[in-house]
Amino acid sequence: MTGHGWLEVADRVLVLRYPLLDVNATLIPGEGAALLVDTLSTRAQAAELAAAVASVTSAPLTLINTHHHFDHCFGNATLAGEPGIWAHFLCREQLRDHAEVVRRAAAKQCPELATELAEVEIRPPDHDVHEGADLDIGGRRVLLRHTGRGHTSNDLAVLIPDAGVTVTGDLVEVGAPPDFGDAWPLEWAPTLAELLVLSEAEGADSVFVPGHGAVTGAYYVRAQHTDLARLEWLCREGHADSATIDEVAGQSPFGLAASRTAVKRAYADLNGTLYA
Ligand SMILES: [Zn+2]
Repeated sequence: MTGHGWLEVADRVLVLRYPLLDVNATLIPGEGAALLVDTLSTRAQAAELAAAVASVTSAPLTLINTHHHFDHCFGNATLAGEPGIWAHFLCREQLRDHAEVVRRAAAKQCPELATELAEVEIRPPDHDVHEGADLDIGGRRVLLRHTGRGHTSNDLAVLIPDAGVTVTGDLVEVGAPPDFGDAWPLEWAPTLAELLVLSEAEGADSVFVPGHGAVTGAYYVRAQHTDLARLEWLCREGHADSATIDEVAGQSPFGLAASRTAVKRAYADLNGTLYA
């Protein structure tokens, strides 16, 4: 099952790696029902994704948004059907109450899509998840889990135990440093550690689908956890020692630009001035 750009990464788990931003959408077809994780950035991209889904299944499609960033949810309006969209409740809050802020951030990050982003109907999710929800998708058990803040306030992972797969959203990125623009750098490592424990307990740790880049394994997620934990403690120590942002960022395991953002946000968090 590899038509229309799908790669079957495990039993009936298909990943479409979209070239622009190298972002992943994941399709989990069941008997008479199917699940799609993330919906890409624009109407045109979502229409391409809908055609790719239709090449695999015509079953009613439940949607998941892994978080509120445009490249994971701006295709919602094009793809949503009767079963609706599930996401963390703070994702819904962002897309419902702060839609134009989210849209402006998107256009700033991706100016080449500005025209298309301006036309997108921002469709908030319908079903709130707080800590977790268990779904039955045509006989397949699918677990939605929020293990804490990390890449954003509202990261939601999707576990598919019968296939040994965890879809992480941008809690994990392959081929690029983690994005700290809306991140909680002091909480990301514990959030990822908790997700690794859950995935292993559910037997969903053979394959990890990151938000961006190639599908990977638990070893990579553990390595990213180690790096995030190191960054967390560099920030805590730097803050205690009144080190400058650049002094701390210079020691970070990630690139300087990403690390500067991370340290700034970690310092704000330690000063009590970081808000969701
Ligand atoms: Zn993101």
